Amino acid sequence: MTEEDETMDVSDEYSALSQLDERDKRVKEAVVAYLMRQSGLILDPKKYPDSRARANRIDELGKEAIQRSVLKSQILSDQRRVLASQSIATQAKVSMEASENATIVCYLDAEMFASGDYIPLFDMESEVLNLQTPEELSNIGFKFKGYDDFRDKFENFGTYLITDPLTVQRMLELLQDFFLDQSIPTYKEASNFHPILPYWNIVGAPKRCDKTFENLGVTNATGKIIKLRGQVSEVGDQLTVYTKIAFRCINYIDETKTRKCLSTALVPQNTEEGLITKPKECSRCKGTDFEKLDSEKSRIEPIQRIQLQEVNLSEDPKSIMVELRGNLTDKARPGSTIEVTGILRLESIQKNSLMSSKYILAHSVTSVNEEAVKTVVSEDEVEEIKALCDSMSFEERIDYLVWSWSGHLLCDPLLKRALFLQAIGAVEEEQFGHRSGIHILIAGDPGTVKTHLLKAVQKLVPGSRMVSAEAASQAGIVAACQQVEDLYTGKKRWALTPGALALTPKEAICCVDELNLYKSDFGDFNNALESGEVYISKVVSGRVATPCSVLAAANPKKGDRKKFVKNISFLTQLDMDITVLQRFDAIFILLDEANYEQDRAIGLSVLGRSSNPSNVPLEMEFVRKYIAYAKSVSPKLSAEAEDYIATQHAEKRQASKSSDYLRSHRQVPALRRISLAAARFDLQEVASVEHVKYAEEILATTLNEKDAGQMAGDEPEEVRDYRRSVAKLFVGYTSAKSQYENIDYRFVVEHAKDKGIDIEPKQVKDMLTSFSKNSETSVKRNKDGTFNYSGPQNPAYEVW
Ligand SMILES: [Zn+2]
Repeated sequence: MTEEDETMDVSDEYSALSQLDERDKRVKEAVVAYLMRQSGLILDPKKYPDSRARANRIDELGKEAIQRSVLKSQILSDQRRVLASQSIATQAKVSMEASENATIVCYLDAEMFASGDYIPLFDMESEVLNLQTPEELSNIGFKFKGYDDFRDKFENFGTYLITDPLTVQRMLELLQDFFLDQSIPTYKEASNFHPILPYWNIVGAPKRCDKTFENLGVTNATGKIIKLRGQVSEVGDQLTVYTKIAFRCINYIDETKTRKCLSTALVPQNTEEGLITKPKECSRCKGTDFEKLDSEKSRIEPIQRIQLQEVNLSEDPKSIMVELRGNLTDKARPGSTIEVTGILRLESIQKNSLMSSKYILAHSVTSVNEEAVKTVVSEDEVEEIKALCDSMSFEERIDYLVWSWSGHLLCDPLLKRALFLQAIGAVEEEQFGHRSGIHILIAGDPGTVKTHLLKAVQKLVPGSRMVSAEAASQAGIVAACQQVEDLYTGKKRWALTPGALALTPKEAICCVDELNLYKSDFGDFNNALESGEVYISKVVSGRVATPCSVLAAANPKKGDRKKFVKNISFLTQLDMDITVLQRFDAIFILLDEANYEQDRAIGLSVLGRSSNPSNVPLEMEFVRKYIAYAKSVSPKLSAEAEDYIATQHAEKRQASKSSDYLRSHRQVPALRRISLAAARFDLQEVASVEHVKYAEEILATTLNEKDAGQMAGDEPEEVRDYRRSVAKLFVGYTSAKSQYENIDYRFVVEHAKDKGIDIEPKQVKDMLTSFSKNSETSVKRNKDGTFNYSGPQNPAYEVW
């Protein structure tokens, strides 16, 4: 580019234009500095005659640059940033080996390049540098005045990556061919087959590029690099877009019109506007007749749009469209939390409209999910964990960790142990489809610590989320059919949007508060808990994965102060669907009442007495690391443990034979899951009988184990016992007095008194009335309020 020599009148309009040109020129120079350096052309051609030798030396210099950088630890923790320091040749090699279709990806670390650390301050003594740009460029005036000039321009490159990434992108595509065929040996050949070589991906956006959904609306960062964290709420189809279209010149080049020119030209397309750009004229014959060639010669690029939504769901969650291109497509999955570095752009809402909405053209995507859920445990930390294991028993250890995590919360220590084991989870068993997630429900009086426990679990397990069932009713707790703008056309259409359950990753826990206030149908919730997947069939249909564990809390609806009332089924009081409740492995009922043993246990656990003599809690970070490490163990139940579970189950069923409800078979997988979680906590490959007994002790306090009748939707056991005794008195009265018709309820009360049993007359009346409603009892209620009985003397009272 030659400098403007002439002076002329400068209007405002012209001034703005000339500034644009000046800026483009400076970006172009910065891009040349980058390409010179990273392609290895900057090195002395005598000392490094071939491309491999140049690449090796650039790689070495890159490693040295990281070592002296203030950003060293951040860069080393991100493989892409490490690659950005390496030669283009090495990056090409690494990416071609990693991808199926041999795509070349080069990373551009904005922060590192702009920091000034990357290029040494002074000319490297041992190197004779080559500041001579390729001939085509030096011919049009592209030169470096010296080392400092080159260094400044390289640093500018880092800055332009942040402030003007689109121009950088354009310049890179324009200039890369001058450098890459000298850097990548197979470049010419490969570039005939591949869409874009390479994909330039900007990584390492500095802190000041961080944006939130709140400040996106008012930011003036349009056209600049930003970084945004969010959750993928929708993934669009992967489409292709023409980036370059091949045209063949069909102009006749002889007078007899027998020979056509047939030279081809690849024309870059404006992918924003979606209109095909044709060549102006043939460079060979100056003809203007072209035919568009098929896609083989043309270059296409995959493109995919996703919707990114703020992680903490509010009532009206904010979201933004993200466009993924090339190597970034086909990786995002709904529900995953990602961090996108990309260019904030504006898109016209309608064609030829000045109204526009913001979107992000992604340059790099990091899965925050995996990073967060898969807590990295270093070798030193593993040693620390093992040392802790050696110093105390399994039971002491679990109480110590539980106390360190939630010593401030006052509740049943068995419940806390259950929650801790839920955080660890069981081991998946693909073959029989046993889910690995443990689902727990805490039902309790207001004023108990339910919500605090949920919050504590959310903090304990990375990736977990907390949602109020009442607020989620609108959006759907699993997924909802909603009208959304189509990601590609902007038109309204129906789509399945994932709810809290679908948005929680597999290894995490979805904490649902006030489950009893959920207003929608529980059917989907049921399936989600049972199979980890829901098939939604509404206006649109589709499968939604819900692989997470669920911790729910519920309040009683009835009773004076919304506390549980005795002698009425808990489940009736929660006013919830019985099948939902049966999906929970453990239901803990928290009653705000005095209970000497339990209160003492709570007291001790708060003081940390039973677990830790020194009373020094472990750091939360260590507790999380312990859980992460425990999750890496995949124990199986020992033969003895399996035998024990089966025998216990059979025996408990036998023992409950005389009662009206048998222990549910669901207790077996529930016990299995909690036993496996206990073995994982113990870092053992085999879950032993001891682990099972430990789990058994926890489950013994749950409603599931304590009252099979209530789990089947019946009244509490005491109520059932009472009803049975009234039934016996009634039948006993009929046989004692040989009276089978017109029995007044007061006769039964008298009969009970004779036997020394004191019962409430009204309750007897109500109960006899309820018997008469069940034809199996053979009790009939007469119009005058008396009862007849026509059944056997020793009926099956269980059905009454
Ligand atoms: Zn031609």
